[in-house]
Amino acid sequence: MTRIASIATHMISVPRPEPTWTAQEEMRAWSVILTEVKTDDGLTGYGEIHGSPMPRICDWVARLGQYIEGMDALATSAVWDRMFALTTPRPGSIPNAGDADPNIPPPTPRGERAQVMAAIAGIDIALWDLKGKAAGMPVYRLLGGENRPLFTYATGGYYRNGASDADYGRELAAFVEYGYRGVKLKTGAQSPEREAARVGAVRRAIGPEPLLLLDMNAPYDLPDCIDFAHMVAEHNVFWLEEPLHWYLQPADFAILAAASPVPLAHGEREWTRFTVRDFIVTGGIKYVQFDATRAAGFSEALRIAALAEQHGVMVAPHTAPELHSHLVLALPRCAWGVESHGGPESDPLAYGLFRDHPHLHDGHLTISDKPGFGLDIDWAFVERYRVRS
Ligand SMILES: [Mg+2]
Repeated sequence: MTRIASIATHMISVPRPEPTWTAQEEMRAWSVILTEVKTDDGLTGYGEIHGSPMPRICDWVARLGQYIEGMDALATSAVWDRMFALTTPRPGSIPNAGDADPNIPPPTPRGERAQVMAAIAGIDIALWDLKGKAAGMPVYRLLGGENRPLFTYATGGYYRNGASDADYGRELAAFVEYGYRGVKLKTGAQSPEREAARVGAVRRAIGPEPLLLLDMNAPYDLPDCIDFAHMVAEHNVFWLEEPLHWYLQPADFAILAAASPVPLAHGEREWTRFTVRDFIVTGGIKYVQFDATRAAGFSEALRIAALAEQHGVMVAPHTAPELHSHLVLALPRCAWGVESHGGPESDPLAYGLFRDHPHLHDGHLTISDKPGFGLDIDWAFVERYRVRS
């Protein structure tokens, strides 16, 4: 048996040349936590976590790691269940209760759920990498998928000081010149009327052919968003991503979906399959964007994909194409594509961290046939941009 021997984390952060904004928050760096799981028979698996604060997530990886050391490294579901069980009370877990069991840790604090779910993600992804390496095959093949060119699009248009609508248009048009056939514009920081004009400027800059997706980062309430959807429809918009305020629920998305001429996409901020379920079943979304690197990992993304397929919802994972491509390749009936962030200039972290980047041709990626996720890490880059806590 291949057993989990040790788990390590590496925090990496590449400063941005200037601060940028989504409609929701400022971004000063490209950051990732690399997870590294070693087995007692000499295998190493790598995973990724996108979340913050990074030191706190790394603490949770270490604590969860102690709890799963010695488990079968290929038993991804059993390991996932053991970690996830720590998020809820269980008999014996409270030291002062009568039936206290010293072998059962207390539940994780409610205030740190985002960091705990992120830590589970990084460990689970590394175990899937290990599983592929142990089997000597890429993860998509382990799951029954076949390699083929995989649709991708490039995200840009992050708000920056002094940029005009024409500047954002040029930025996204450059992605099309680079080889993408779809682009996604950050939207939502201004009024619906003002943003609709900005979307029109970008559509004129990229021309009529490329897909144009809008990443809204939860800026509007229901009435404003219905107005916005009608305003941008004339610009042939492919989807509205995270259109509604963070506190609005699947029932609100369902009302929007019924009223909007543009389909909806959602899922990157969800932590488990249980909340994504209601967006898929009753929320009216057409694309599900669960991000295995933010919460719960690759195992959870697979469970969500199975439900999406039964409801005619397409899988379009948020970011990390080097990992999510394996999920999408394994889903012939409900695969839509993966998200990229352009080339080396606009995505220096992904292009620097991995020596072997998926090849882009005519809007499609071709991924390698290396075992696991096939990540070839440039350790000199890791050392250069390592964050020391
Ligand atoms: Mg988004």
